[in-house]
Amino acid sequence: MVELDQPLFRRVALIGLGLIGSSIARGIQATGVAGEIVATDRSPEVRARAREIGLADRIAESSAEAVEEADLVIACVPVGVCGEVAESFATHLAPGAIVSDVGSVKAAVVAAMQPHLPASVHFVPAHPVAGTEDSGPDAGFAELFVNRWCVLTPPAGTDALAVERLRQFWSALGANVETMEAEHHDRVLAITSHLPHLIAYTIVGTADELGSVTESEVLKFSAGGFRDFTRIAASDPTMWRDVFLTNKDAVLDMLGEFQEDLSKLTRAIRRGDGDALFEHFTRTRAIRRGIVSLGQDEARPNFGRPAAPLAVPDKAPSK
Ligand code: NAP
Repeated sequence: MVELDQPLFRRVALIGLGLIGSSIARGIQATGVAGEIVATDRSPEVRARAREIGLADRIAESSAEAVEEADLVIACVPVGVCGEVAESFATHLAPGAIVSDVGSVKAAVVAAMQPHLPASVHFVPAHPVAGTEDSGPDAGFAELFVNRWCVLTPPAGTDALAVERLRQFWSALGANVETMEAEHHDRVLAITSHLPHLIAYTIVGTADELGSVTESEVLKFSAGGFRDFTRIAASDPTMWRDVFLTNKDAVLDMLGEFQEDLSKLTRAIRRGDGDALFEHFTRTRAIRRGIVSLGQDEARPNFGRPAAPLAVPDKAPSK
């Protein structure tokens, strides 16, 4: 993260104070990238909590009130409600403001938000590819975006200066920023994020259905791999429901490819084809090493989890 002498934005409005909204708020506070944060949330309880933990300079009672005179507005809400949220504040936007979002799917968000926005603002959709399985205003932390990617998907014809200003904003929060078309983003994320989540949701569900026979064993031996799926499968149900509903075509394409590959591995196991299995696992191991060398994960064993301390038996008193 870069601490700035001069804020890049005078006032940022954050609509939604869940994990991503509260992390952006914390990141702005840590870097000084904006002069003032005005934030809001649909829930009175979350607005009260946000005041209590000091997430913003001012907590507004509505999104319409929050966006007044802001030069950057970021909708931090589930993909499925981005359209209605944009509609709720559209007529209150200051001319020249940059309007953005953080949704994990982009083409559907562009289609839902853009029709509501006046021609006098710049619409630059964004997706910070960073998260945890936690939700809510207490889940946020300033470093969430450090060394993670943030993808901007400005529609054709978007003002280049507005795109550049948003790039600088995310860069100040520590992210590496890339620009691509919304449809391309959705295909890339379908394989790198959406399909892995679907597989985790499936495998954890399957283990749960086997529960009556193996429940205690599933939990007891979870460190064998299952535990890492359970972390992904604990992600927010609303967010992920919306991802699969709005990125349907790309996910179904990738799922088709995945099912073909799964059939190939199934056949190799059935036929005892060790060479095919070995060749496949060698190829996938190289991909893991590539991710680590790009600084996108831990090289330490067990994802860097600290080893459990060994229980040291009480020393017998020396005689
Ligand atoms: P979150 O912690 O569950 O927060 C969701 C926020 O959206 C809350 O402020 C919630 O309000 C608000 N919201 C939900 N339904 C709403 C509605 N109908 N109208 C208005 N506001 C509504 O989720 P999050 O992880 O911050 O996700 C927010 C966005 O970030 C999503 O679009 C998601 O795709 C994207 N994203 C998430 C991750 C991740 O790993 N979590 C990573 C990158 C991008 P309440 O406080 O009232 O519940």
